Amino acid sequence: MNIPDKKQPEKQPEEQPEKQQEINEVTPSPSPLERAGVRLQEDFPILQREVYGKPLVYLDNAATTQKPRQVVQSIVDGYYSANANVHRGVHFLSQQATELHEGAREAVRKFINARSSAEVIFTRGTTESINLLAHSYGEEFMKKGDEIIVSDMEHHSNIVPWQLLEARKGTAIKVIPTNSRGELLTGVYKGLFTKRTKLVSLTHVSNVLGTVNPVEEMIRIAHAHGVPVLLDGAQAAPHLGVDVQALDADFYAFSSHKMYGPTGIGVLYGKEQWLERLPPYQGGGEMIRSVSFKGTVFNELPFKFEAGTPDYIGTTAFAVALEYITGLGMENIARREHELTAYAMQRLSAIEGMRIYGAAEQRTGVISFLLGDIHPFDVGTLLDKLGIAVRTGHHCAQPLMRRLCIEGTVRVSLAFYNTREEIDVLADALERIRKMF
Ligand code: PMP
Repeated sequence: MNIPDKKQPEKQPEEQPEKQQEINEVTPSPSPLERAGVRLQEDFPILQREVYGKPLVYLDNAATTQKPRQVVQSIVDGYYSANANVHRGVHFLSQQATELHEGAREAVRKFINARSSAEVIFTRGTTESINLLAHSYGEEFMKKGDEIIVSDMEHHSNIVPWQLLEARKGTAIKVIPTNSRGELLTGVYKGLFTKRTKLVSLTHVSNVLGTVNPVEEMIRIAHAHGVPVLLDGAQAAPHLGVDVQALDADFYAFSSHKMYGPTGIGVLYGKEQWLERLPPYQGGGEMIRSVSFKGTVFNELPFKFEAGTPDYIGTTAFAVALEYITGLGMENIARREHELTAYAMQRLSAIEGMRIYGAAEQRTGVISFLLGDIHPFDVGTLLDKLGIAVRTGHHCAQPLMRRLCIEGTVRVSLAFYNTREEIDVLADALERIRKMF
C-alpha cells in the first residue's frame, strides 16, 4: 500500500519562537512528549496518511494502537533474517530465534516487574489469557455453586469465559455495580464475598468510561478473604504501565496490539505459586517434557501453558514496542495523555447537547459520549468522512450499556501521539455535525 502524502507537520518551537512562547504562557506544557509531538507522529508511518483526501486523525486507540516503524521493521527483519522454529533446533537460526523470543519474555517480565520470566505466559491476547485462566483455574479450583466476582463495566472478554464455566460446572457470577460517575461501588463489593467466592476478575481500566478502578484496594479486600484476583489490563498496561508486584495481582492479562506492538500476541502473568498448581489449558508440542501412551509429563513453567509453535516473530516485535514506550517513559506517556484528555474533556463538554459518560476521578483518555439525539453511528460515519477515526456502538460492554440505559456511544480514545490540534479538528467537526442535525 502506498502511504499518501504527509500531513502538514505542526510548527516546531524553533521555527516560531514568539508564537511558541505565547502558547506556553496560555497552556504551560511541562511534558517533554508534548513538545516532541511532531517527531512522535513521524515514528508512525500510518499517521502520515490521508483518508478521503483529509489528514487522518486516529482516535480509536482503545481498539488498537498504531505501530512505530521499529516494530514493523522488527517483523520484516524477523522473517528476512531470523526465521526458524524456536526451542527445538540445534542450528544457528533456531537458536537465534529462541534467544529473541525468550529475550522478549524477559522484556515483558521487566515491563510488568514480575519476579520471574516463568510467570510470563504468551497468548494471542487478553481474551485468550482470560479464557486460559477460566479453563485452567475453573477446572482445578471451582465446583458447582462456587462464585466469581466481576464488575458491571467488564468487556465481554471478562464475562463470557466465566459464563462458559458456569455452563460447564454450575458456578455463579456476582456483579459489582457502578455509580453514576462510572466508579465501582467498593462498599457493595465488600459485601459480595461468601465462603464460595473463589476468584475476583476485574478490569483495571474501563474501555468505555476510562475509569481507573481502585484495584490495589480491591485486591487487598479479596486477599483478606483468601481470594485471588485476575486483572484485565488491556486498557491499563499501555497507559499507566504495570507493576504486578506492587499491585499484588495474582493474574494480569493484556494485549500487545493495544501497546503499539503486533496483533496476535498477549500475555497472562500469574504468580508462580498459582501457575504451578494449575493444569495446562491446551495439549500439544512445547508444553510437554515426555509423552508415551501411558501418559504425559508436562513441561516446566511457562511452557506448560504454551502448546504449539509460538508467534516468536510477534513476541520479538512486541519487545521492540515495549522498548519504544519505555524509552519515552511510561510516566511521560501518562502525563501527556492526561493533558490531552483534560483538553479533550474541556473542548467536548463545551459543545451544546454533549453528554459524556463517565466522570471518575481517576481516568484515562477514553471518552464516551452522545451528542443530542443523534445516533452514535451517524456521528461516527460523519466524523469518518472528515478523516476522523472513532468507534461507535456498545464497545463489547453490553451489560454496561444496559446499566447506562443506552444502546451505544461514540468513543474517542487517545494515545500519546495524538495532538491538541487533532482534538480541535474533532471538536470543530462535532460542532458542524450538531448544527447539521
Ligand atoms: N478487555 C478490555 C478492557 C478491552 O478493552 C479489550 C479490547 N477491546 C479486551 C479485553 C480484549 O482484548 P483482545 O481483543 O486484544 O483480546
